[in-house]
Amino acid sequence: MSTVGTRLYEHTTEAPARGRLRLVQLYPRDMNIYGDWGNTLVLARRAQWHGYDVELSSYDVGDELPSHVDLLVGGGGQDSGQERIKEDLARSGPTLRAWAADGVPVLAICGLYQLLGHRFLTGEGSQIPGIGLIDAETRAGQSRLIGNITLATEDFGDVVGYENHSGLTTLGPGARPLGTVRVGDGNNGRDGTEGARVHHVIGTYLHGSLLPKNPVVADWLLARAVEHAGGTWEPEPLDDTWAHNARAVAVSRPR
Ligand code: GLN
Repeated sequence: MSTVGTRLYEHTTEAPARGRLRLVQLYPRDMNIYGDWGNTLVLARRAQWHGYDVELSSYDVGDELPSHVDLLVGGGGQDSGQERIKEDLARSGPTLRAWAADGVPVLAICGLYQLLGHRFLTGEGSQIPGIGLIDAETRAGQSRLIGNITLATEDFGDVVGYENHSGLTTLGPGARPLGTVRVGDGNNGRDGTEGARVHHVIGTYLHGSLLPKNPVVADWLLARAVEHAGGTWEPEPLDDTWAHNARAVAVSRPR
């Protein structure tokens, strides 16, 4: 029997809430490595700090997608995890594409980023089809690209994270990069691009987790989610000292 994911968490503010956000984490059972779950925790927690109620559920292979969602998050995984979700992703793909076109913000890290593209050609010579939400294609490379990475981005300033992938991603004309690599390899170690953006979708290789060290990106996703939910984004001024300290340490570390 299929279920509408698993309700993981629900928070209702004591003061009258500024809105209610429905967050869904995609495929946490198979795609959730190198601390990617931290992205979801940051989104849920910052939404509360900004005065919004949060409903968080998971969506795994065989589940039913909820009828409404305001924000989607998905993590990285090994090639084997990507193999396990591929059929289900083909089934959920049309809905995910329609939601993204409707303005639902999406954050997809590494393995899921690859599968939001057209396809991933593995080192074993097999092809894992993607859903074509992002105009990008990935091929396994000869070595792994591993280490701290820093990007320059137009909308978020410098973004810091940690990459660990063998896939080499090439963007098509329908996607723009998330940023330009300052230190690290990014999409493919060749063209200086990292990640991809289309609609309100961000695909990126940055684990870390990404959002604890990049609160500007977290709040951008939340703002888009609030707008999608029909509300107005009225953020609280938050103390991000810890995040800034973590960024400074990550940037100072050798690769
Ligand atoms: N299996 C993919 C690769 O190595 C994704 C890895 C990941 O999600 N960290 O390219």
